[in-house]
Amino acid sequence: MRRFTGDRLVIATHNRGKLEEIADLLGPHGIAVSSAADHGLPEPEETGTTFVENARIKAHAAAQATGLPALADDSGLEIDALGGAPGVYTADWAETGNGRDFVMAMTRAHDALEAAKAPEPRTGRFCCTLVLAWPDGHDEVFPGVMPGRIVWPMRGDQGHGYDPIFQPDGYDQTFGEMDRWAKNRISHRADAFRKFEAALGD
Ligand code: IMP
Repeated sequence: MRRFTGDRLVIATHNRGKLEEIADLLGPHGIAVSSAADHGLPEPEETGTTFVENARIKAHAAAQATGLPALADDSGLEIDALGGAPGVYTADWAETGNGRDFVMAMTRAHDALEAAKAPEPRTGRFCCTLVLAWPDGHDEVFPGVMPGRIVWPMRGDQGHGYDPIFQPDGYDQTFGEMDRWAKNRISHRADAFRKFEAALGD
């Protein structure tokens, strides 16, 4: 595996929240981060059918355009009884044409499970794939996962996205009921980041 030994990294996102989360994590390693938006890059179209394909598209586009190593993530929720849906379309399920509505998206997931007469527990997982790409075209992939079950009704008003219907394995609370710190220690994103941190050359 190629290790990252530089001190500058482009985060291939236009999402300020993701940038701040990653900057916090990399600060102690002496790595300065900038975002794709800081470099004036357009958002590439996510045409992949897997998390790794979409993360690769974003990471390579940013590395090629800036000449710097770039890190991208792609994440989503897979529900077993729905054949892995919504998967890479997790954010799309919330799209209304006028912003995102996650109550609508969670209701859609529940309705689809009811229509499929899916037995309990309705298992699934949150996935997060990080891809670190270099300008010479090399990349390294760091997959993260948090297995759990889909519950109904929604529980909790913390977090974001599908958190209120996802109960991680080994816990009584949904992600929506956990405080941010507790969730961030155990999440799919934390899992991927731990693997990424292990690849840092410091
Ligand atoms: P993307 O990775 O920005 O393409 O979007 C992934 C989508 O997955 C987000 O819009 C959320 O809806 C969902 N998602 C990813 N991680 C989480 C999480 O930790 N909690 C709830 N929803 C999540």
